[in-house]
Amino acid sequence: MPGPQSAPHGEPARRAQEITLLVLDVDGVMTDGAILLDDHGVEGRHFYVRDGIAMNLWRRAGHRAAILSGRSAPVVTRRAAELRIHPVLQGVSDKAAAFRTILSQLSVSPEHACFMGDDLVDLPALRLAGLSACPADAVAEVRQAVDLVVDSPGGRGAVRDLVEWILRQQGRFEAAAADYLVNPIRPGES
Ligand SMILES: [Mg+2]
Repeated sequence: MPGPQSAPHGEPARRAQEITLLVLDVDGVMTDGAILLDDHGVEGRHFYVRDGIAMNLWRRAGHRAAILSGRSAPVVTRRAAELRIHPVLQGVSDKAAAFRTILSQLSVSPEHACFMGDDLVDLPALRLAGLSACPADAVAEVRQAVDLVVDSPGGRGAVRDLVEWILRQQGRFEAAAADYLVNPIRPGES
């Protein structure tokens, strides 16, 4: 079973029980960090279906999710729409300020928000979040700073690991998974 590499018990587990909002970086978290550029300058990304299922479970648990990205690309907007993620803040240079903006828009206090990021630019927002997390292949400075390092790398299950772990701490995973199995996914949701 996927799980955190660090601090699975104790304070992070207790704080996970308060989380209702998941804020995700895109490159290196929802993706492996690779950016595909075609001859016209249009950017592509590889997203991971299992992470999509995770967001489906997250929503079924009654929670919300947002995206906070330093870059900006239409494919991210499209993937966010598929996953019913809103708001989506792209082209962000100050992630701490943008993180506060998301909290304000959704009327969520920091202790109820988890942020997953993978690189130095994410550190200021990670420090603001009630629960901070990163993929297994995040840069060392981030891995050392966060509450939780999950087992999987970015774009290959990091989001799935995080969502499952939080929902299990909340005692919501089994019900969300059961509901998912009973109700088929609607087209474009995963
Ligand atoms: Mg990143």
